[in-house]
Amino acid sequence: MEYKKICDVYHSLESTTKGLEKTEILAKFLREIHDEPELIYLLQGNVFADYDHRELGISHQLVIKTIGKAGGISDAEVVDEFKKLGDLGKVAEFVLGKKKQQMALFSSKLSIEKVMTNLRRLPSLEGKGTVEIKIGLIVELLHSATPKEAKYIIRTVLSDLKIGVGSGILRDAIVRYCFKPKDIEEKKVYSVAVQEAYDKSTDFAEILAKACNNELAKIKLKPGKPVKVMLFPKAKNIDDAFRIVGKPAAFEYKYDGFRVMINKEENGKIKIFTRRLEEVTKQFPDIVEYVKSNVKGKSFILDAEAVGFNAKTKKYTDFQAISQRIRRKYDIEGMRKRLPIELAVFDIIYFEGDNLIEMPFSKRRKLIKKIVREEVFKIVLAKQIITDDGGIVEKFYEDAISENQEGLMGKNLSAPYKPGARVGYAVKLKPEDKDFDLIITGAEWGTGKRAGWLTSFDVACKNNDEFLQVGKVSTGLKEKPEEGLSFSEMTEILKKLAVEESGRKVVVKPEIVVAVQYQNVQKSPTYSSGHALRFPRIVRLREDRGAGDIATLEEVSGEVGG
Ligand code: AMP
Repeated sequence: MEYKKICDVYHSLESTTKGLEKTEILAKFLREIHDEPELIYLLQGNVFADYDHRELGISHQLVIKTIGKAGGISDAEVVDEFKKLGDLGKVAEFVLGKKKQQMALFSSKLSIEKVMTNLRRLPSLEGKGTVEIKIGLIVELLHSATPKEAKYIIRTVLSDLKIGVGSGILRDAIVRYCFKPKDIEEKKVYSVAVQEAYDKSTDFAEILAKACNNELAKIKLKPGKPVKVMLFPKAKNIDDAFRIVGKPAAFEYKYDGFRVMINKEENGKIKIFTRRLEEVTKQFPDIVEYVKSNVKGKSFILDAEAVGFNAKTKKYTDFQAISQRIRRKYDIEGMRKRLPIELAVFDIIYFEGDNLIEMPFSKRRKLIKKIVREEVFKIVLAKQIITDDGGIVEKFYEDAISENQEGLMGKNLSAPYKPGARVGYAVKLKPEDKDFDLIITGAEWGTGKRAGWLTSFDVACKNNDEFLQVGKVSTGLKEKPEEGLSFSEMTEILKKLAVEESGRKVVVKPEIVVAVQYQNVQKSPTYSSGHALRFPRIVRLREDRGAGDIATLEEVSGEVGG
């Protein structure tokens, strides 16, 4: 298929902000790619499925070189245009437009398949001398592209298509194309079916193919391929927890670590994923070891919390203390010794070929008890009680807090597991619960003694596919790195994600999640969410979380006046 076809679709999508119109445009295009469902990734601005975290590894700097080479101009000239246009996609369009005017009768020969092939080669190229090959692969595409096509190639390379298509709209388009629902009720039913299937598969190509053949029910969990984790709403207090999860209920320690899904494949290989579906197996040889030696079974998927403890005092630490282990690529053994972790297993969704997500929680727990051989400071089961007595829960809650954990989880004993959903099958109970996980969408350069650092951060919650701002935060970060998360660290992280800059303001790709404490929430016309956090303060960087994990508008508005 011609690449031009999908570029026309991008253009139409970019020209409207209305969700319904976008859904319609996408649904039409899905017919065209029915036989090549993997092309759906290009609508997501990607060339791989969501569960596949291979990165193209192309920085802004490299794109500048690439455009310069393809357009026959210097890097400095490209940078000048970038300053004017603020978008490297537009820069490519402009530069190549000028060049191609000089080449009479230029017409595009570029196919979608060629774009896919060249871009898919990029992640495998690593090390010395590969930069030139990477540039060559993109320049080859630009040479056969029209200026408009060049714009979208560059935006895809930078994973920032700017067409306003998130997973919610794509899901609706699949519903529309494959099921043609007659009314709102039918649409709802199919949306739920498609969403559930997606949360298991995290691959829109598979969903598109299966939905159209009425085979969504055939989507299977497969160890080695990450699924979305189940999420938990907050309960206000113990009574509220019982109201949501029923009586009697299970209560477990809510450990203050980070979530890991541990997959053991049929071939014995163990893979560890975070809740963002990122594979972190290499970073955690300790987890691999504990699971190998202490968990029975040929294949399984366990849901667990990795909790840090102090190697000397054996006291549990908070998440922040071990967060660096998630991204660490070197000195893994040193890290393991300095920042040891214990694995607290709390669920299982697959065992020996069987999908267990429909099995009641109490049975799943029994199964973990059977297959996990507990060893303190290596692998344990989440501490649990089953009761209908609020007093007993209160006592258990105090124990959890005194052991440095965050609070409790209350769990419905007969509930299934719902990947990706924030249903009330389990709830969290935390004493100081006035914080939200929010995503950073922009920042501002500081002045005076804070010049050179980004010092104020725009934070947003989400509503379906949209990020809606709830405030600006400038407190919580430290000036001295030794005191904790610092302005300079945050500046380094966000600089790499900058997509636009004007004056002191920087727009960043929404990827960084922070926990923000606040005093209360007010209605406010100042921010796009219609709400503002009062006295917000960044308390943590959540390396383990992504856009899918942040607070929803509903949760934010539910706290108004609270
Ligand atoms: P929150 O991070 O506040 O949304 O709380 C939910 C998180 O608590 C989960 O994603 C897990 O990472 C973590 N957690 C800690 N202990 C448990 C437990 N016993 N059961 C379920 N989740 C737990």
